[in-house]
Amino acid sequence: MIEFSIFEKFILFFFLGLAIYSMIRSYRIIIKTVNRGKNNFRKISIKNIVNTLIKKVILLVSTWKTRFWTNIAHLFIVWGFLLFLFVNVYDILTKFFPNFSFPKRFSEIVFPAVDILGGLIILGVFYFALRRIFFRKDLEICSNVKLLPNVRQSINRDSAIVLMLIFIHVFSRILAESLKTVYLPSTYWLPITNSLSTLWLASPFIIFFWKIFSWSSILSLLVFIPYFPYTKHFHLIMAPIKYIFRQDENSFSSIQSINFEDENQQSFGANKLEEMDGTAILDAYACIMCCRCQNVCPPYISGSELSPAAYEINKRYYLNQNYGSFSKESFVSTALTDFAITEKAVWDCTACGACVSICPVGIDPLSDIIQIRRELVLMENKYPKSFQILFRNLDRYANPWGIDNSHRLDWANTTTITTIEQNPEPEILWWVGCAGAFDALSQKSSLALLRILQQAKVNYSVLGKLENCTGDSARRAGKEDLYCQLAQQNIEQLNEINLKRIMTGCAHCYHALKNEYPSYGGHFEVIHSSQFLLELINTNEIILNQDTNHESISFHDPCYLSRFNDSAKFPHKVLENCNEKVFSLQYERDNTWCCGAGGTQIWKETEFTGSPINQVRFEQLMSFPSDSLVTACPFCKTMMEEANQKANKLINIEDISEHVLRKIKMENE
Ligand code: SF4
Ligand code: SF4
Repeated sequence: MIEFSIFEKFILFFFLGLAIYSMIRSYRIIIKTVNRGKNNFRKISIKNIVNTLIKKVILLVSTWKTRFWTNIAHLFIVWGFLLFLFVNVYDILTKFFPNFSFPKRFSEIVFPAVDILGGLIILGVFYFALRRIFFRKDLEICSNVKLLPNVRQSINRDSAIVLMLIFIHVFSRILAESLKTVYLPSTYWLPITNSLSTLWLASPFIIFFWKIFSWSSILSLLVFIPYFPYTKHFHLIMAPIKYIFRQDENSFSSIQSINFEDENQQSFGANKLEEMDGTAILDAYACIMCCRCQNVCPPYISGSELSPAAYEINKRYYLNQNYGSFSKESFVSTALTDFAITEKAVWDCTACGACVSICPVGIDPLSDIIQIRRELVLMENKYPKSFQILFRNLDRYANPWGIDNSHRLDWANTTTITTIEQNPEPEILWWVGCAGAFDALSQKSSLALLRILQQAKVNYSVLGKLENCTGDSARRAGKEDLYCQLAQQNIEQLNEINLKRIMTGCAHCYHALKNEYPSYGGHFEVIHSSQFLLELINTNEIILNQDTNHESISFHDPCYLSRFNDSAKFPHKVLENCNEKVFSLQYERDNTWCCGAGGTQIWKETEFTGSPINQVRFEQLMSFPSDSLVTACPFCKTMMEEANQKANKLINIEDISEHVLRKIKMENE
């Protein structure tokens, strides 16, 4: 008979018990480990679980942005993993109870699928093995990036062991099934198994080989079960859990507010894993170590020692190295800046969100970096020297330029501008922003927007001296108390006005007012100037001059407009309406590349060993024969202009409002 003997059943029972015990122990430790973080998990809902399973697990929708063939191979392994969950239960049950079977209809679907997927899994395993050996360039981390000792070798070793176990398990099962069908021909369509079974027809050792391959398939599984939680392949379980528990499915790297009035709160920010949110610990287990985030990280590509992938990988290996100990409440972990990321790397982040957007498993290294910055600034008073002036200016003058707010409208001194005192109930409250008010280059964009508003006879007002910085720079620098102070002042001011809509030309103000002020009690309808310009064009309140020459444009999408707010369509539509030829870039729209100003970098001396980010971006934009470089944020414009001067190109750089002003028919023309 082709079945296990009593003795074999006993051995199997023993090893199975051992594997299950070790699995339960590991999972208990991991649950305790994750629970050491702050509990910011959202409540489980059936809708969310079904959504995650269909979109993220079965269709893998978040992986398709890059690496098409890798995703296909990954799909084989994921689908195979899911199906083999059933089949492994079946295989083990039939070893104890040879007559056990699934319902017929179920078997008619499952077994042919297992047979085909088994072959595809083997193809996937070969693909990943070859990729690790020969095509590993985009999986490597530069030597200047901090990595725990032996991590490079451990990643390769873990991958090799897991791939080998998967291969042995699946291939042995296929061979065992093909041997079995010589004795018990299958009634199902099993193309791979049946073809292989013809090889054994003349063999006198069918039962012997069947036992060898059955044991090899089962033992590889029983070794895999306890080893699995230590490997990066554990993401197959932890990534869906991360999606199910993460705070808000639609939030894009949202920064949590701090309640400074809570006297029980002794510390702010986090520089230890147990001080982070539980989801940040889940991230360490969910990370695939694919390095997609690093390969889109502007500082990393420009030569910085910041790698979001290395940060997550270090977290994971630290937890592995302290497996068991970390799960105990008494364990105090090492500071993240001592093993996972250098302080310099923490300050190099431009908060561009590219890593968050590309990550196939929804990991958010940016939130962690902001938490670490908060800890350094608020608890240790440690930050780049140049931020001293920034913080002082924001505190004393409520703007980074350190100019008295009474000068906020000086840029418009030759033009009449309507203030909120003159027009207390405007249709549009124009939030000029600090750059638009104080920076010479951005003042030109403000003047252009003012002329357009006047031409279109828009019922608008500006706050003038009542406007303060939104606090974006303070928040990204980790100086949350200062951000909180500025945000509350602004919210109080705005709540006093009979507001309809706020319009701003600054992508950072737009994001802060729209998405970050609600958590401090400011709920406003906010639009970006490009959206408003499009409305004016669509309603014929401004008429574009069709006689002007059509230009070739390189458009730089600001991160905080296009990626954080999915609003790239507005400036692109405006340029389309202007009949311009806009070049299609590798990094554009929600896949844009930072100008180098974000995350408070504009106020910091750049110390990259490689090329400055703005110059790398400028070169990307200049790889086309453009007449003009257009953008939609004052900080992007400044960074591009600086790169322009350095490259001595002297191309025309303008804000979208300046471009539109050049293209519209003025009333007196
Ligand atoms: S937010 Fe941008 S700069 Fe910061 S780690 Fe992510 S990709 Fe890199
Ligand atoms: S954080 Fe995401 S993108 Fe980065 S290595 Fe991990 S899984 Fe890949």
